Amino acid sequence: MTYAIPAPAQRSLSIAGSAERFPVNRIFCVGRNYAAHAREMGRDPDREAPFFFMKPAQAAVDASTPATIPYPPRTRNFHHEIELVVAIGTGGADISVESALAHVYGYAIGLDMTRRDLQLDARDKGRPWEFGKAFAASAPVGAIHRAADIGHLEHAAIALTVNGQPRQASDIDKLIWSVAESIAQLSMYEALEPGDLIMTGTPEGVNAVLPGDVMLGTIAGLGQIEVRVAN
Ligand code: MN
Repeated sequence: MTYAIPAPAQRSLSIAGSAERFPVNRIFCVGRNYAAHAREMGRDPDREAPFFFMKPAQAAVDASTPATIPYPPRTRNFHHEIELVVAIGTGGADISVESALAHVYGYAIGLDMTRRDLQLDARDKGRPWEFGKAFAASAPVGAIHRAADIGHLEHAAIALTVNGQPRQASDIDKLIWSVAESIAQLSMYEALEPGDLIMTGTPEGVNAVLPGDVMLGTIAGLGQIEVRVAN
């Protein structure tokens, strides 16, 4: 086959302990999945059905080694959101909670970088979030750790520092919708495919970063990621 114009490059992520790479298909994100973060966003953390938004695969940045992302245009409030990332290895529709984890290839640390001013302006006007959430380099993700190697995470400290100062700290056992429940809910609306990523939501403490800032994200069992905002 010959393409008429240059075809987009396949985005991929590192896999811990392997020379193979994980091809990124779609990036689904769970909104407000920690009660304390829902509260800080001015929303009631009652356990209503989860909601999802998306980023393009082109948002993914391999942060398995220290990475640098640009400070994006048209914002004055560029926020970090540290999140557990689920990498889907086997697709499916209407996946049950009981079988959901069998669809997981592995787990990684990710950042759902957000132009908060654009997101909240869109939210308050009832418009889509795209320009606040789905922009280039808005999803740095560390190496994927295979579930076959490390099992499935139920309790794990999750934390982010900026320039060494604590910003976010919680535990993934505080997820309102667990990994298995999120997979089941999402697959009711859209058949999951191999290569899909699910960013499972951020705990409280989201805040702005500035050019030159260095974010260090950790999830127990998944190592760390270091992401710098370019000057
Ligand atoms: Mn998020």
